[in-house]
Order: sequence, then structure tokens, then C-alpha cells
Amino acid sequence: MEVSIMSIKKINVVTLGCSKNLVDSEHLLRQFEANGLEVSHDSDEPADAVIINTCGFILDAKEESISTIMDYITAKERGDIEKIYVMGCLSARYKDDLVKEIPEVDRFFGKFDFDEILKELNIQKRKDLLFDRHLTTPSHFAYLKIAEGCNRTCAFCAIPQFTGNYVSVPMESLIDEAEKLAQKGVKELLLIAQDLSFYGYDLYKKSALAELVNRLSAIDGIEWIRLHYAYPNKFPTDVLTVMRENPKVCKYLDIPVQHCSDNILARMRRNTTADETRALITHIRQEVPGIALRTTLLVGFPGETEDDFKQLIAFVKEMKFDRLGVFPYSHEDDTYAFTQYTDDIPQEIKQERADEIMEIQQSISESLMQQKVGQTINVLIDREEDEHYVGRTEWDSPEVDGEVLVPVSAHLEIGQFYKVKINSAFMFDLYGDVI
Ligand code: SF4
Repeated sequence: MEVSIMSIKKINVVTLGCSKNLVDSEHLLRQFEANGLEVSHDSDEPADAVIINTCGFILDAKEESISTIMDYITAKERGDIEKIYVMGCLSARYKDDLVKEIPEVDRFFGKFDFDEILKELNIQKRKDLLFDRHLTTPSHFAYLKIAEGCNRTCAFCAIPQFTGNYVSVPMESLIDEAEKLAQKGVKELLLIAQDLSFYGYDLYKKSALAELVNRLSAIDGIEWIRLHYAYPNKFPTDVLTVMRENPKVCKYLDIPVQHCSDNILARMRRNTTADETRALITHIRQEVPGIALRTTLLVGFPGETEDDFKQLIAFVKEMKFDRLGVFPYSHEDDTYAFTQYTDDIPQEIKQERADEIMEIQQSISESLMQQKVGQTINVLIDREEDEHYVGRTEWDSPEVDGEVLVPVSAHLEIGQFYKVKINSAFMFDLYGDVI
């Protein structure tokens, strides 16, 4: 029997992929709850409808999205779910194929079909809540998506194909959104976009990142501002002054460099060179003493020679990033690399190279963490887990970086800052006591 939209009272939103997807889901959830729907996020509980916000970046993410859709189709066959809707990057990228191949899904939406989804569910859009969110993160931190889309042309990346060109969110809207988040108790804002470095160029014809960060830091209640997804080329160095002088801006920067050999940087179309990358990293560390740098590397890109990889190894040892992630190259259709290059590096070599980099990084991280022993550091407590409270320093971003563990006997409050004396370190984590 066909289920009427009107009977949908409980809706579950499932978010896959990155924090940008999470922000989209949180905006949707806010509209649903404001219209009287019971909402849940990433829940296994039965619901009248589920919206799966998919990721379509690389093969692994696509496979995870498909298997999640299949899980909910099984739940529908069991009668736990009435309606299945799919949105996000996978859906934006392969909609026509998905409609044909997975008819059990009631409807596929693009990445930005916000209004379409509300119409489909017969929900009145609350314009007054456009910059309000139903938080799914712990209530003391939240992601703030400052732009969508991307104007870069990285050869391995399909994202611009389905997100479109760069669109900065107007500063006034971001301030409004951040004020609402602060009123909900958010203390830490994580600024995200496909490319943070380009903020403002489309809207204000100049870089506006430094001004935005300064204005966000003036909001009552906001204690930490963290910058993610900076792009090396045309990086707005004026934000470094704000980072050095404004105590509310974490001395932390996530800046994916992807590689360091000129041969591969050119083939990746990263519009930068090994020397420029080194010079930028050195400049950032000079301008902001004590800054923690996170980066991402891509190994096994078509044409990556043994020598290119040796250069990358030397670069990792030389640069000593505080945090580093490495991905084996995924030959993605619709990308420049897919049309121009052969995926000539065997998968096992790609994986070996990624493992080798992470092994080196582990020892780098270990020695950097040891240097923190004996220091007293400001720590934001995220949760209680077994015998410990788990928190982070300003050099640690949630879910991707290290943590600080404090004995549970300290009786601390989640979401509060404490001074912690570090007495030991292990791999990526620190252990200490509140003083
Ligand atoms: S900066 Fe490059 S990798 Fe990042 S979304 Fe844009 S094109 Fe893709």
C-alpha cells in the first residue's frame, strides 16, 4: 500500500562522508523538527522515512554509500522504514544510473536540492531558520561551512563536477549562524569548505578569510576557531597574523599539500611547486610559532616514479607535520587524470607507499608528542570513556587528530576547558592530570 507523505512523522537522516555533508544534514534536520517531525541522526531505530546523505568522492566512499542504501532497502523490506530518499555527492554524480539500478529508493536528490526535499515531504520551508541547525556533534563544538563548490582543477578530483563553482557564504549569514550556535552552547567553531583559501574572492573580489575569522572570534561564547581545508596556492597569509595575535584562533591549520615532487604536482595540476610548498610551510611556522600543521598526501598517482616517492618520503621527514593523512590514488571517472592518464601504479604498490608514509609519520608524531610531556595545556573535554575523560588541545581537531586522556576521578564537565599537566604521551595521544 502506497504510504502518504502526510503520514511521515519520524525521519532519520544518515550522513556519510565529510563534515560539509554533516552541516547540510543539520540544516535539513532543523527544518524537519521546526515543522513538528520527530528527527534522528545516524539512527538504527525504525522511522517512517530515511534520508541518506551520501559521499561520492572516491571508490571506498562510493561503496560505503551504496552498501548503506542497501542496508536501508533491507530495513524497508522488513517494514522498519516506509520511504527511502538519497541525496548528496554520490546522488549528484550518478543520479541517472542510480535511478535505473536501485528502483527501491523512493527518490534521488542532488547535492543542493534542499527545497525539493522539503517539497517532497510537504514541509513548509522556515526561511527564518535557514542559518539555524540541529546539531549532531557534541554541543560544545560545531562545523561552520563557509563556502561550497570549488574553482580549483586538481587532476584527481571530481568534486567541482558535482558541487559547481566556488560560492562563499555571505559573512553576515555566517555571523548569524555562528551566533545561533554560540547561543546553543558551542564554544569551538571548525571552519570548513572544499577550499578555505578562496573564501571571499567570488563575493568580495578579495580574500575575506582573515576578516571573517576575526569577526567570528568576537562572538560571545566562542572560545576556539579552527581552520580546515586550506589550499596552498594563493593561501591568504594575512590570516596568519590573526592566528598569531588572536587568542581565540587555534594555532592549528589543516592544509592538504597532496605531494611534493614537481613532476607529480604538475601532473596533479596543483598550481604549486615543491619549493613554493616548502616556503609556505616555513613561512606559516615563522609567522605562527607553535602552530600545529595537519596535511593530506596522495600516493600512487599515475606516473609516480620511485624517485617521486623518495622525494615525498624525504619531504615528510623534513617537514615533520604534526598530523598527516595519506590516501592511495583512486582513478575517478569524470576527472582530468581519468581522461589523460593510465592508472599505472598497482594497487598493492599504492598501499605499500601509503603504509610506508604512515609508519614514518608515526615516529614523527611520537617524538613531537613526547615534547609535550611536562607542559600544562588548555584542554577542552569532549566525552567520558571508560576510566578517562577524553579531550583535545588547540592542536587537535575532533575525530581526526590525537586526544588527551584525564583520569575519571577528576570529576570534570563535558564541554568545559581545563588546565592539564601532561605526564606521558603514547603515539598520537597525551595523558595528564587537571591542575
Ligand atoms: S581543492 Fe582540489 S581536491 Fe579540493 S575539492 Fe577542489 S579540486 Fe577537489
